[in-house]
Amino acid sequence: MPASHPIDAQGLALDQALQLLQQAGASLPDEAPLSAAWLQAVLDALCDLSSRDALTGLANRRSFEMALAREVDRVARSDEAALLLVLDIDHFKAVNDTHGHGAGDRVICAVARVIEQAVRPMDLVARVGGEEFAIILPNCAPTVGLAIAERVRERVSQLGIEIGPGRVLGVTVSLGGAFAPQWVRSSPLLWMERADRQLYRAKAEGRNRACLEPQVDSLVSAEERGLLFASLNLDTQQDLP
Ligand code: GH3
Ligand code: MG
Ligand code: MG
Repeated sequence: MPASHPIDAQGLALDQALQLLQQAGASLPDEAPLSAAWLQAVLDALCDLSSRDALTGLANRRSFEMALAREVDRVARSDEAALLLVLDIDHFKAVNDTHGHGAGDRVICAVARVIEQAVRPMDLVARVGGEEFAIILPNCAPTVGLAIAERVRERVSQLGIEIGPGRVLGVTVSLGGAFAPQWVRSSPLLWMERADRQLYRAKAEGRNRACLEPQVDSLVSAEERGLLFASLNLDTQQDLP
């Protein structure tokens, strides 16, 4: 920042931001209040808060979408395979209806913890909807994709979730997965749609299962073909005399 534009920290209205952080249980910075280091720490804490899901502490939908877009770029540059898994708790409405919303929340949190423990620290686990999660697995070989999805499914199915004194509940999840296409640039939206399609298949085939999009080199969706050929036509036209 140019010296002619110093921060007028005294004039900043920070009360609401600090209250928000306190309510969220975030510890306030140790630095001298209103110093540049203190303001940076407040900003960092606010960024962290806005990227997390309040119930589970996982990445929220916003940070998931940003990470997915980054991963599409990375795959295009690095030529590494990356897997996107989407998960949905089976018959979750019945959990809420039978045991109450509080029990439902406990189930969501317990499933979140199990998913986190079943994948690598470098993988991003997000809560993207009510009882829906997504995992971005960078640098994931196609040969191990199904085994990872199965590990997550199995660990959730083995969970005993305490929802009250002496009340333990079990749930299952369905998973869908798709690898990022390496030879044609995809879009985050298309990637998500392909994984979602597999999730619907897992639900339709009976739930408590994982379905991955078949890994065939020549398998490209109509939309992706459209994207590819649109850009080729553009180039060809530009090359025409
Ligand atoms: P399926 O196996 O097809 O996924 O069935 P389902 O019952 O899980 O699916 P459905 O979409 O009908 O139910 C999702 C329910 O999740 C409905 C909604 O009330 C509940 N829900 C959404 N967000 C929350 C939340 O934050 N906490 C709790 N306890 N329930 C939530
Ligand atoms: Mg759902
Ligand atoms: Mg569900």
